[in-house]
Amino acid sequence: MTAPAVSAGAGGERRGGLEDDWPAPGAGKFRWVSASVLVCGAVFDGISEELRGRTEILVRDGLIAEIGRSVDRPDGAEVIDLAERTVAPGFIDTHVHLTMDASNLAQQTLESSAAKALKGLSLAREYLRYGFTTLRDLGSMDPEFPTIDLRNALNAGLVEGPRLVVAGHIISASAGHGDLRGFYGSRWDLPVSAVADGTREIRRLVRREHAYGADWIKTANAGGYFSVGDDPARPSWLDEEMDVVCSTARRLGMPVAVHTGAAEACKQAIRYSVRSLEHAYLIDEEAIDMAARAGTYIVPTMQMTQEDLGQLKAGTLPDQAVWKFRRDSRRILDAQRLVASSQAKIALGTDCGMFPFSHGIREFQAMVGAGLSPIRALRAGTSVAAELLGREDIGVLKPNACADLVAMPGNPADDITVTAQVDFVMRAGAVHRRPDGNSGGR
Ligand SMILES: [Zn+2]
Repeated sequence: MTAPAVSAGAGGERRGGLEDDWPAPGAGKFRWVSASVLVCGAVFDGISEELRGRTEILVRDGLIAEIGRSVDRPDGAEVIDLAERTVAPGFIDTHVHLTMDASNLAQQTLESSAAKALKGLSLAREYLRYGFTTLRDLGSMDPEFPTIDLRNALNAGLVEGPRLVVAGHIISASAGHGDLRGFYGSRWDLPVSAVADGTREIRRLVRREHAYGADWIKTANAGGYFSVGDDPARPSWLDEEMDVVCSTARRLGMPVAVHTGAAEACKQAIRYSVRSLEHAYLIDEEAIDMAARAGTYIVPTMQMTQEDLGQLKAGTLPDQAVWKFRRDSRRILDAQRLVASSQAKIALGTDCGMFPFSHGIREFQAMVGAGLSPIRALRAGTSVAAELLGREDIGVLKPNACADLVAMPGNPADDITVTAQVDFVMRAGAVHRRPDGNSGGR
């Protein structure tokens, strides 16, 4: 048996010098398997238009070693029977908030950073069981950097869960989408919002995110629905402010994700070369064409709109969201259909945290509901999301890719709802969920 170094080392993640302290295979709570052979009924490889039929996948040392009709079976390899299932790359959600809880926004200001990180860990582990093996967290509301601590603990193998990529905070204008000061007073006068006005302050905040180890810069160049005192239909950054966010991030080698709404704000973001438009609630045809030409990814968070519609109907949408969402909901749905019918690159992201993580898996269905083909929706949640994250080693099933795999009964290319029935999850070669309900590592 090989030491677990292989599992955690896959993907070039930070190891944190813990090698000597790792549990021996089979010891402790981690279930390390040096090699396994997955016997798959069908396979979606992350890219192809068609599913492959019966296929075998050899997983060794946390990586996919071989894929074919029949593969090598090394001595001691565990054979996992998925002959009644479709196997796909582990799903990637490129927009979550592990430390935010929209059902209790007051908590954002009252909880300690450590409490948020612990809750975030618990949510991340639960979410892994739905098949999400990689998450991009797009911002915490905290004076410190709880999601960066969480990422470091996960990626070093100190705790078990999905792979995490992080933007620390939402850099925002005063009374912009990331400004919670109008919501609740902060406990102990600690600022939970990353607010800046003017280029000097913005540059300082971008550099602070970098200094503390964020992977991405997150900003908001238009208002939001759940935030007070702003409007998604209005851009919030002046051009010179958007420019300084993006040029400082570029100088530091960091990609930018922008919460955006108004078509004008979407165009501004594309002009300043952000990597992903988040939500893009009110995007128009011209902006979608610009995104397609520039290669800007769109993360349309379509399930969130369904959640908001449900809340509006039930009368539970927060007051500050009602007038904006009532005004815009039809236009948001129209914009989503336009995005779905375009050639733009669409990546799956949910905004879970703003609604329960248990509903995040429905994003695949929401995407198909808006007009994406099931295969394109599956790509959005695998290979396209990986491309957005700049990771060639996840989101696809090919030799030397990370062994991040899920299995579901049925054929997701015919019936996208089976994505919500994932019952086998492997991350970097370690099994986290099995069809019989016995999870490997928990
Ligand atoms: Zn968000």
